[in-house]
Amino acid sequence: LTSLPESGRAALIEEYGAPLAVREYPVVEPQPGSILVRVDRATICGSDVHTWTGKLAQVHDIELPIVPGHEVVGEIVAFGPGEQVDSVGASLRAGDRVIWTHEACGHCYYCTVERNGTLCENRRLGFLQPARKAPHFHGTFAEYSYVWPRSGRLRVPDDVESGWASAASCALRTVLNGWKRLGAVGIRDTVVIQGAGPLGLFATAVAAVGQPRKLVVVGGPESRLEIARRWGADLTISVDEVGDAEERRQLVLEATDGRGADVVAEFSGAPGAFAEGIGLAALNGRYLVVGTVAGPPQEILPQMVTRKNLSILGSLSADVDSYYDALVFLRRFRATFDWDAMLGRTYSLDDLTEGMEAMRDYTEVKAVLDPALG
Ligand SMILES: [Zn+2]
Ligand SMILES: [Zn+2]
Repeated sequence: LTSLPESGRAALIEEYGAPLAVREYPVVEPQPGSILVRVDRATICGSDVHTWTGKLAQVHDIELPIVPGHEVVGEIVAFGPGEQVDSVGASLRAGDRVIWTHEACGHCYYCTVERNGTLCENRRLGFLQPARKAPHFHGTFAEYSYVWPRSGRLRVPDDVESGWASAASCALRTVLNGWKRLGAVGIRDTVVIQGAGPLGLFATAVAAVGQPRKLVVVGGPESRLEIARRWGADLTISVDEVGDAEERRQLVLEATDGRGADVVAEFSGAPGAFAEGIGLAALNGRYLVVGTVAGPPQEILPQMVTRKNLSILGSLSADVDSYYDALVFLRRFRATFDWDAMLGRTYSLDDLTEGMEAMRDYTEVKAVLDPALG
């Protein structure tokens, strides 16, 4: 039996927007079905930044302090009582690297009848749990974390680097879940991706492997658009250079034989992005909405939906099937896309606030945490 570490360090949000505090918490025995992991790499998601700035507190009840972070690869330290297998039956051992899902209850209407754990009425998001409650390490910006008893979990293949798998554990699985909602995107389709952050860039890669007729990415800054072009965008439209939405629409029309895009996918979350996307869609178009999870009302003309015969599809988060697809995708296309291009500086727990600031200010696509760094 592995002996547990006595305690570990965690970065905490004690006050919105203030520097993260680093505190020590006791490490407790994992409960049945749970796994204690040592955080190998964590990456910062936009939601962590929104949590830190206080934006997420508008839509969730949050009791500070909390340990933020939910994109992560953990190395197994100890198992709680129960079967030591992942969600597809592969056996797990101490030292294996795993990624895992938020926790769905498994017994509510959405879990059982709709079979969609992302809509679970009792869904538990680790990074929003109060840090005072055991096992304290609910988020992943810490030396340790816990795979919760009902969380889906998957072993990370040896040839998938931890930084990539960490980014996949929220950003890429979210994109792939949305892409499944869209259905087939054919070579005749023109595609517009709104947003060039982690989701938008992963979406660019996912769209590119399907070789659509035209792939356009609208976003910024230029450093991100450069990656988008390298990853398969035929055209990028900079929101910094073309500040007017109507001008951007004209550029999309020019690129799509005057019709607009057959598929528009929103991964930006920018105020006005949804309304803009409706305008970019072609007749009979499909509009996938993923990036907008908070923010003010936006003005649209509902008749545009009717008259364009649009399908509008929302997609929230992802279940373990999309995590599985994300690992497959990273492996299958690792020679095609330089996944490292998305990753920024690697921070320690002590300077992680700088990583949060870099994400907030768009100077990095994905900041990385290595809690073993001193
Ligand atoms: Zn996330
Ligand atoms: Zn449920």
